[in-house]
Amino acid sequence: MSVRVVARIRPLLKLELDKDTIVTAESQGNEAPSSPTVVRIPNPRNDSESFSFQFNSVYDNEATQQQLFDQEVKPTVKHLFNGFDVTIFAYGVTGTGKTHTMRGGKSLADRGVIPRLLSSIYRQNRKIEKDTAGGTQVEVAMSYYEIYNDKVFDLFEPPEKRTPAGLPIRDNHGKSVVVGLTERPCMTLKEFEQLYDQANINRSTSATKLNAHSSRSHAILCVKVTQTTETTVRVSTVSAIDLAGSEDNRRTDNNKERLVESSSINKSLFVLAQCVEAISRKQSRIPYRESKMTRILSLGQNNGITLMILNLAPVKSYHLDTLSSLNFANRTK
Ligand code: ADP
Ligand code: MG
Repeated sequence: MSVRVVARIRPLLKLELDKDTIVTAESQGNEAPSSPTVVRIPNPRNDSESFSFQFNSVYDNEATQQQLFDQEVKPTVKHLFNGFDVTIFAYGVTGTGKTHTMRGGKSLADRGVIPRLLSSIYRQNRKIEKDTAGGTQVEVAMSYYEIYNDKVFDLFEPPEKRTPAGLPIRDNHGKSVVVGLTERPCMTLKEFEQLYDQANINRSTSATKLNAHSSRSHAILCVKVTQTTETTVRVSTVSAIDLAGSEDNRRTDNNKERLVESSSINKSLFVLAQCVEAISRKQSRIPYRESKMTRILSLGQNNGITLMILNLAPVKSYHLDTLSSLNFANRTK
């Protein structure tokens, strides 16, 4: 079981071009300047001091979607086909680039981790089916749900069909399953994209209906790959999670609903940090049952790979939130 924690500092946005960059990527020691591993940020209380945080890798404002994918995600596809589960999180404050990292934009160059991952999976399928002359069949299916206020909602379900209590979770042979969650086969990238786009529309309409924002929920995509030969069936899953914004809303916005949202987000992110920390320290007890998200993901229960992408904004208006993101990630190593 392995954990990688990487940071990604997004570029300045158009509206920020007059602002200073305060969060920077640095390489350590004699490493080539092209491979930074340290994030440096000023001490908010004393400008002449700074803090540094070490990661497995740091991507700065010049890193492209392709670079991040090729270096961090593409290598996991091989493990996936060898039967290991892969879990990828994007963690960070709202506005730091989680959705850009995971989903990305429409153009080919802007595509994020998820469409690139699927494209890579389908390429591998074709290769396997060709190499084994049809002796191995590969099937791909997806489910996509969100967790909002600790309730699970199927993103394939149109928002008007949602029940307020969300979907129940049951234990089944030691695995937690969401009862009634839709699973859709998707055998081509085109099929995948149609389903994924429709589900993302469901996600934003339901958030609007609730007068909430989709940044207040965790969006969890699970892609199941089943490889079947005459004698064996091998199932593995890759989960890609666009987490709820990690900002501390108690500071800025303290109406009652936002407080309920915040406390459930805080709790689930806290448990997530504990689980990732336990996995990376190879502890035998991983408290994955303590939140719905980690329980459904059975985080750390299967042999697998966990990748945490910490998204950061480079500007001062995010200073305190950026520090708490860095402290969060520091705990998970
Ligand atoms: P989040 O999902 O964390 O709230 P978004 O992904 O919506 O953040 O990003 C906020 C804004 O920053 C968007 O306009 C997005 O296009 C832009 N952005 C984020 N990361 C990058 C990047 N690496 N390159 C260019 N634009 C980015
Ligand atoms: Mg987002």
